[in-house]
Amino acid sequence: MAPTNGVVNGVVPRSNKMHSKVVIIGSGPAGHTAAIYLARANLEPVLFEGFMANGFAAGGQLTTTTDIENFPGFPSGILGPELMDKFRSQSLRFGTKIITETVAKVDLSARPFRYWREFQEDQEPETADTIIIATGASAKRLGLKGEETYWQSGISACAVCDGAVPIFRNKPLAVIGGGDSAAEEATYLTKYGSHVYVLVRRSDLRASKIMAKRLQNHPKVTILWNTVASECKGDGDLLNGLVIRNVVTGEEKDLQVNGLFYAIGHEPATAIVRNQLQTDSEGYIVTVPGTTQTSVKGVFAAGDVQDK
Ligand code: NDP
Repeated sequence: MAPTNGVVNGVVPRSNKMHSKVVIIGSGPAGHTAAIYLARANLEPVLFEGFMANGFAAGGQLTTTTDIENFPGFPSGILGPELMDKFRSQSLRFGTKIITETVAKVDLSARPFRYWREFQEDQEPETADTIIIATGASAKRLGLKGEETYWQSGISACAVCDGAVPIFRNKPLAVIGGGDSAAEEATYLTKYGSHVYVLVRRSDLRASKIMAKRLQNHPKVTILWNTVASECKGDGDLLNGLVIRNVVTGEEKDLQVNGLFYAIGHEPATAIVRNQLQTDSEGYIVTVPGTTQTSVKGVFAAGDVQDK
């Protein structure tokens, strides 16, 4: 007889472990927004905030940011972790059950859906009638020598979040990437830095024509074509330079910069639902336009995991 995997007539028996009406996976703004609404609708949401899930503390990408100046309601700005604490308190206030563990595996093939916490993958699963995937995305990094040391001490993946901090004021800065994000971020950084170098790995920009033109014509921007970075240098506390290499000539040299911003794209955190939900060519979850409904009824996706 074929293994049934516990499924009888297409129905998964409820686990002796926790069963929930709705489980939210992810603890960024999207996850907590869902939790607040669900809790207020008496749907008793359970939110797995993760334990260093995807390399982030509970709260996600915002926890790695310093001042947030573009979130309405905080005219003097607010620190990323502080804003996340507020989201969390608001979810708790309405009765969300928050679990500081990572969901490592899900089975969306039948309802109730089944899921396993990290390190419990060989145990009986827990179940949920509905699952909301709000696992977010993370900015791609290059893993350069010295990157770990100076991450958030001169290196960032979000110019809009971090560009205005004092360490970058009137200092030379660098952006890596040649797409619209790089163009946008570099242009934005000209407001703060003394000069902005854009390191483009080939001899052309991927950015849209209008943004490329704006970038190329900016007096405070120098585009370094065919150029990659190979090392981040600093004084032990803060970044103060890069080793860059021309990929055509092979020439290597130092570039004195006090800020480095990655703009080489994002990666959605969709490993746990791969091959179970429809995703696009870059791995983002596909939702029905204008909704959060995924390709599986009862599974929803919100936030950066479905928004490029
Ligand atoms: P893109 O994928 O468009 O561009 C990524 C850039 O990073 C490319 O130039 C790419 O080079 C470069 N890159 C990738 N990997 C590396 C690497 N390992 N080393 C060096 N360079 C690397 O991502 P974006 O984030 O710029 O844009 C994503 C989407 O968002 C796009 O559709 C864009 O149009 C949109 N967007 C729109 C904006 C707007 O209209 N205001 C603003 C920002 C984004 P290569 O070209 O050689 O592959």
